[in-house]
Amino acid sequence: MSLPEVLSRIREAELVAERPSESVRLVAVTKGRTPDEIRAHVLAHGEFALAENRGQELRDKRVELPNVEWHFIGTLQTNKLKYLRGVTLIHTLTRADHAAELARLAESWGSAPDVLLQLHNGEPQKHGVQLSEASSLYHQVSLMGLRVRGVMIMAPEGDPEGADRTFADAERLAGDLGLSELSMGMSDDFPLAIRHGATLVRVGRALFS
Ligand SMILES: *Cc1c(COP(=O)(O)O)cnc(C)c1O
Repeated sequence: MSLPEVLSRIREAELVAERPSESVRLVAVTKGRTPDEIRAHVLAHGEFALAENRGQELRDKRVELPNVEWHFIGTLQTNKLKYLRGVTLIHTLTRADHAAELARLAESWGSAPDVLLQLHNGEPQKHGVQLSEASSLYHQVSLMGLRVRGVMIMAPEGDPEGADRTFADAERLAGDLGLSELSMGMSDDFPLAIRHGATLVRVGRALFS
């Protein structure tokens, strides 16, 4: 696939789901790709938000690719939050102490990233806040002055039925909390995620193959 093909599949999935055209935004996952690869496979086709999962890699690429909207999709670590300066949206907030440290850093940065709460998908080794604890985290983080825009979830690996259930859970929870952004769907499952209301799809491999 290529980026134009992914975009046309996104538009097609919106139609099938009877959702407005362009209600889903492509977030291009660029982890492990060089700036030249990113220019050729992504930025040559227009302006897109780019997402990285390692703080230092993101910081270095921000220098090489200025004027880009950056998102962070990796596991947060207290001592590496400092690399997230200039990030527009963090998809992976799971802990109030990380939010407090981000709010503190944001004062010196002069701008704060918006955040999504990463929901646990039931896989033991995966990060995420339990569905039952998401509302409490949402209220705690909001009081710290960070804007919670929505939730993020990853489908369990190699489990299509699990994906359906996982996306449905996230859709319901975002609705319950009154949050508008739903980050879910990757190269293998973004059409399904769009049927469940995804507003941000995080696609990597399909853009570069
Ligand atoms: C790598 C990654 C993606 C993109 O996955 P692809 O299978 O390459 O499309 C999306 N979300 C997260 C959190 C990732 O780490």
